[in-house]
Amino acid sequence: MDDCIFCKIVKGEIPSFKVYEDDRVYAFADINPVSEGHTLIIPKAHAENLGEIAEADLMAIHRVSQKMYQAMRSALGADGVALVQANGKAVNQVVMHYHLHLIPRKNSESRLSVTSWELVPGDMDAIKVTSEKLAAVL
Ligand code: AMP
Ligand code: ZN
Repeated sequence: MDDCIFCKIVKGEIPSFKVYEDDRVYAFADINPVSEGHTLIIPKAHAENLGEIAEADLMAIHRVSQKMYQAMRSALGADGVALVQANGKAVNQVVMHYHLHLIPRKNSESRLSVTSWELVPGDMDAIKVTSEKLAAVL
């Protein structure tokens, strides 16, 4: 896609700090890192979101995420790694080319807000109805 910033990164038209590349996948440093080592894994083929990405690209990205998890633990001393992936403006997707964030974190650092929401028990009847709605279309 001509006006997509991540497609431009894949083509080398915009610089990036490359971490990994294969025939389907490109991984590079996020330039607004939430923590040291914050990395994005993207498909080389443009797809906007989880609804559009080819299954083979999705599997390739998740295979790489496992390698990256090990690399973040061994090379950066990460104690934990959060995988975050936004689909749509409603959940704050800013770049409209599928990307998986890998955010490494050490025990000594403060918790990431995205992984530390308050546990407030829900309405069990409402949870049941919603679960059934989902189950009905799966
Ligand atoms: P989001 O779409 O909200 O999941 O996040 C988009 C991410 O892309 C943000 O974390 C940005 O810091 C990152 N980003 C945007 N432009 C670049 C770029 N040129 N190089 C690396 N990361 C980028
Ligand atoms: Zn793109």
